[in-house]
Amino acid sequence: MSGITIALSKGRIFEETLPLLAAAGIVPTDDPEKSRKLIIGTNRADVRLVIVRATDTPTYVQYGAADLGIAGKDVLIEHGGVGLYQPLDLNIARCRLCVAVPKGFDYAAASRPGGRIRVATKYVSAAREHFAAKGMHVDLIKLYGSMELAPLVGLSDAIVDLVSTGGTLKANNLEAVEDIMDISSRLVVNQAALKVKRELIQPVIDAFAGAVKP
Ligand code: ATP
Ligand code: MG
Repeated sequence: MSGITIALSKGRIFEETLPLLAAAGIVPTDDPEKSRKLIIGTNRADVRLVIVRATDTPTYVQYGAADLGIAGKDVLIEHGGVGLYQPLDLNIARCRLCVAVPKGFDYAAASRPGGRIRVATKYVSAAREHFAAKGMHVDLIKLYGSMELAPLVGLSDAIVDLVSTGGTLKANNLEAVEDIMDISSRLVVNQAALKVKRELIQPVIDAFAGAVKP
């Protein structure tokens, strides 16, 4: 492909990326929420979008199947970032990575150095690093979604999950007890593509940079 391919996930990342694309003069010709197409054209013959699972975005860009992509810091940490140039924090899809427990669970006691708990999460790398830095022993249980359920049915004592309003935690009688990090989405670029197609890619990076909201 002589043009450029941008990998995006449906939902919040796609929605919050639309104004950034517009700033670069790029307007998608289909809405991924309505269309079943996985390759979406734009007003520009040399720019197309591919719709991927959020966790797969870094992989498409790493292997050059997409030249650029937008992925959450959470996803990038778990992926490792190999082969990716990350020029911009886009300040979209903002949330926090937190430790949460059932209301009443004594996390302070459990988190003393030497303490041991079971933690269910999709974010195994970030969680491992966080608890190791605290000197805590944790048994990590990898899940792929609905982490809130795990402590309610005895699968784990705690979870590590993304929190924005806290509504889902509250609805399941859980509470956030520790912030691990602030999360937002970043622009990721295939390093080889940047060299070969710089005249197409650099203007997109520059337009995004100019449109990022503080
Ligand atoms: P799926 O929901 O299809 O299982 P996903 O959870 O990986 O996939 P999204 O829910 O679209 O995909 O989340 C994409 C990114 O948006 C996440 O990687 C994270 O960075 C961010 N995010 C997730 N949840 C929230 C939230 N509640 N508020 C703001 N940003 C969020
Ligand atoms: Mg989600």
